[in-house]
Amino acid sequence: MLRNVLRHSSFLKAAARANLPSAAAYSAPAIPEPITSPDIPYTGVFINNEFHKSESGKQFPTINPATGEVITMVEEGDKADVEKAVKAARQAFELNSDWRQMDAYDRGQLLNRLADLIERDAVYLASLETLDNGKPYSNSFMVDVALVVKNLRYFAGWADKIHGQTIPTDGPHFAYTRHEPIGVCGQIIPWNFPLLMQAWKFGPALATGNTIVMKLAEQTPLTGLYVAKLVAEAGFPAGVVNVIPGYGPSAGAAIASHMDVDKVAFTGSTEIGHLIQQAAGASNLKRVTLELGGKSPNIIFKDADLDYAVEQAHFGLFFNQGQCCCAGTRIFVEDAIYDEFVERSVERAKIRQVGDPFDLKTEQGPQVDEEQMNKILSLIESGKKEGAKMCFGGKRVGEKGYFIEPTVFADVKDSMRIAREEIFGPVQQIMRFSDINDVIKRANATVYGLAAAVFTKDLDKANMFAQGLRAGTVWINCYDVLNAQTPFGGYKMSGQGRENSEYALRNYYEVKAVITKLPVKNA
Ligand code: NAP
Repeated sequence: MLRNVLRHSSFLKAAARANLPSAAAYSAPAIPEPITSPDIPYTGVFINNEFHKSESGKQFPTINPATGEVITMVEEGDKADVEKAVKAARQAFELNSDWRQMDAYDRGQLLNRLADLIERDAVYLASLETLDNGKPYSNSFMVDVALVVKNLRYFAGWADKIHGQTIPTDGPHFAYTRHEPIGVCGQIIPWNFPLLMQAWKFGPALATGNTIVMKLAEQTPLTGLYVAKLVAEAGFPAGVVNVIPGYGPSAGAAIASHMDVDKVAFTGSTEIGHLIQQAAGASNLKRVTLELGGKSPNIIFKDADLDYAVEQAHFGLFFNQGQCCCAGTRIFVEDAIYDEFVERSVERAKIRQVGDPFDLKTEQGPQVDEEQMNKILSLIESGKKEGAKMCFGGKRVGEKGYFIEPTVFADVKDSMRIAREEIFGPVQQIMRFSDINDVIKRANATVYGLAAAVFTKDLDKANMFAQGLRAGTVWINCYDVLNAQTPFGGYKMSGQGRENSEYALRNYYEVKAVITKLPVKNA
């Protein structure tokens, strides 16, 4: 029996007040108290609107990153479970199925109902996200869950507005296009924003009428499974959404190489992105969209408002424990303000509140797991060895859980590992520049191209950067402004395709041309 599921009708208003999730906004008093020990009734493999035991009988633990303790055991889906889920999704996609016969408006209504249920259970979901992922509850509630609700509602609105064109064509013919769902969509998501990544994938896939087999990240399966239960409660027909907790090399790989999966949408590392595309190529040439890693530049000119730029650079790097694909990890600061910028950045890092993620004052919780923590600590060591100046932090906090001090490096050179590799942790790299053309080249000198930012009051410089930076998003005088209406995705090895916005829909439909012969001219 699920207890403690609170209703909180002012949820969206509170979340809207947060708007841009700055550190100050997180402690807004409007946030309702979290549920620090939420009940966890759903840990199975979700197929055909029901939870099942895994076919193999295996389970795996999900860990609380704030303590290192096991929260609960979860069913471990693998190839055999993917097989069952794909069958269910295929059946739900049959031409005469309830789902395929449903009015587009009703598809939108189902998405809206799912958003309603998530809003109803916002406190529970935000609490569960914090328990499983470690992110501060204030973020889970004010940012993650709020954006999930908005995202689903945005795509609900699209459901009955997806249509083709009529085309004047040669001869006595009439042509038009239909935008048809691709079919069974495999979706594989990471652990850094479990709820939000699920919503980003559900919204466009369901609005366009596809069916889904989703694999959750093994570190954070709990909220995705709870949302699966809400999918059934909302009234989606059985088999439209199937959700598999499990591991990448087994369940994930089975999706990517499945002959009856028509498309795979993947969010995760560039390394695994290669494997996904290879598996798609080696199997049925399924459509592939990829949202991958980044090493995003953030360029600060001497004419920027310094206090604001320091705070935004801090937020753009440390938000979500530094575990953001679009984190501003290469901060290029103009010579004239470099020393002052470093000093103020260190002062800001020193007062960052690290600790219990359920405490409303906390800005930074633990890293997601021990492996990530150790990877980050080893990259910090490499930075020191290669001669970067560690101005603050650099160590693990305490012995329990996976906390790392907010860390600031100055005098970072472009060739250092910390300037080239994705750290995915609370480690800031501050570099120096003096020439505008040179810094554009340096900013682009990476295999990645997910995001970039520039802080300046000079419109010409801002425009020059907006055009010159090879990245899917360029922020001018702001950072991490993300919403359902604006596309998000990468140039180069940061990915293919776009999430969010009308552009995301294009990844989820096929275009069919229908050509009809017209009667030849009458007498
Ligand atoms: P990851 O290791 O690539 O894993 C992502 C997902 O892929 C997980 O569900 C994982 O399963 C699964 N997976 C692993 N091996 C697989 C295989 N051989 N075949 C199919 N699936 C497989 O990435 P992560 O560490 O979870 O997430 C961090 C990365 O995601 C970072 O690089 C970050 O930049 C990127 N990211 C990008 C975006 C974006 O929008 N561009 C957003 C968020 C994160 P397991 O659970 O077993 O590992």
